[in-house]
Amino acid sequence: MNTFIVGLTGGIGSGKTTVSDLFNALGITIVDADVIAREVVAPGSDGLRAIVTRFGDTILDALGHLDRAKLRTIVFSQEREKQWLNGLLHPLIREQMVAQCHAAKSPYVILSVPLLIENNLQTMVNRTLVVDVSRESQIQRTANRDGVGVEQIESILASQCDRETRLQAADDVISNEGDVSSLNEQVADLHEKYLTLAQM
Ligand code: ADP
Repeated sequence: MNTFIVGLTGGIGSGKTTVSDLFNALGITIVDADVIAREVVAPGSDGLRAIVTRFGDTILDALGHLDRAKLRTIVFSQEREKQWLNGLLHPLIREQMVAQCHAAKSPYVILSVPLLIENNLQTMVNRTLVVDVSRESQIQRTANRDGVGVEQIESILASQCDRETRLQAADDVISNEGDVSSLNEQVADLHEKYLTLAQM
């Protein structure tokens, strides 16, 4: 059966998790690219084995998990290693996203991908749903959630596409400028729309 896939995206702190929790409460399966990105390098995975072969076992922490901070430092300063890592991980992540979407039993699936547009993954989805919010709210909410400084958040924002680019790529938009309760209605309307589209 062909699974109807809605790609959910938005910048850091825009409210993707909050929105996907609401879809999940309506019985919709959520496939989360961030979760998969951790699974493909979990202990015992082919991904982690390949990383250890390349960088040695000092890339592991005391518990045998990937030391992400160390790996980030390496790829930040060495473009070749960054390309190697992306070449390893992107296909693994993509393969898992497809497999989990197709294994889902709900009438449609939400595929949550923070960098859907940046990584040109829109071909994987039937529709693109953007959670839209002002830059100010993004910074404020991320700072509250993660307890990190504005400078760090701004550097993440700079690595993501801008609001206009994201909106241009959207089929549907959820505005998250109001309070959380205003999301309920928007999600309920889109849910009806996706149920209909998934049957066509
Ligand atoms: P993302 O998954 O896109 O990074 P989250 O869903 O985690 O974003 O939202 C970022 C933070 O902002 C979370 O702490 C969340 O509880 C909070 N949040 C989300 N939507 C709203 C809102 N409308 N008003 C106030 N806080 C919000």
